[in-house]
Amino acid sequence: MAFPPGFLDELRSRLTLSEIVGRKVVLRRKSGAEYAGLCPFHNEKTPSFTVNDRKAFFHCFGCGEHGDAVGFIMKTENLAFPEAVEKLAREVGLAVPRATPAERERAERAATLHEVVEQAAHWFEKQLRLPVGRHGLDYLRGRGLDEATIDDFRLGFAPDSRDGLSGVLQRDGVPLDKLIEAGLVIQPDGGRPAYDRFRGRVMFPIADRRGRIIAFGGRVMGPGEPKYLNSPETPLFHKGANLYCLDRARLAAAKEVPIIVAEGYMDVIALHGAGFTGAVAPLGTALTEGQLGELWKLADEPYLCFDGDNAGRRAAGRAAERA
Ligand code: ZN
Repeated sequence: MAFPPGFLDELRSRLTLSEIVGRKVVLRRKSGAEYAGLCPFHNEKTPSFTVNDRKAFFHCFGCGEHGDAVGFIMKTENLAFPEAVEKLAREVGLAVPRATPAERERAERAATLHEVVEQAAHWFEKQLRLPVGRHGLDYLRGRGLDEATIDDFRLGFAPDSRDGLSGVLQRDGVPLDKLIEAGLVIQPDGGRPAYDRFRGRVMFPIADRRGRIIAFGGRVMGPGEPKYLNSPETPLFHKGANLYCLDRARLAAAKEVPIIVAEGYMDVIALHGAGFTGAVAPLGTALTEGQLGELWKLADEPYLCFDGDNAGRRAAGRAAERA
């Protein structure tokens, strides 16, 4: 996507580079608009990384890295150019111009769907802390997760009710067709009433590469089937091209942390807890070509860390053949 030149100028004029860099690098003011700090792109003990707010660029005299705010976000968060531009534009409240009416419509639809999914995530989180979510909370604690981890991964609970989520969200003004489009509600054939897809499950929100929630995985409490249920394909969610915790792994990869593919959501959360912040998992399917492509964007040699049972060996074998 091409941005009109005036738009990028407007964006740069609203940004203060030292503020953006300052979130990742401790900067000390050297003179008026000039700051220095330890370079985030190479290992060093004395600062050779400089930021100039007036010129709006950064430069490292040690390794030669150089660029503006968009470049800094691209490099440190592993984002493509348009993604970095959109992220910064959001921060300063600047609307990103869309080239064509179709593109505009797509962006608007995605924006409202994103809101619906975000509202659902928030509601699931709340239920986990209510008596109705007690089972779920006990399960997560029983698996060794502490409160901070439960909050950090935004884990939640979907009560065993046909219209828990859909009732609340519709009262909040979300139309039923949006709930269906977002994959949260199922509309059966033959005029029977619509019902919540996720019932009686611990909920794992799934984010896109930028950290916005787009879907859910739900683990059943008790003997129900299937054990794990995921959102269906939606305009936001494409299983084959995403991975659980891909957003976090991108940040980790920018710091050269190893990328590890585990089998399940709980494995990934446990790995993160143990400091392996590059851990991801496929989304209820065998590792796809699209997912392998994403992994190779992050690391030359991602590790596959599947279970030692027969299913895990088969999954590893399939992934190796696909690779
Ligand atoms: Zn450097």
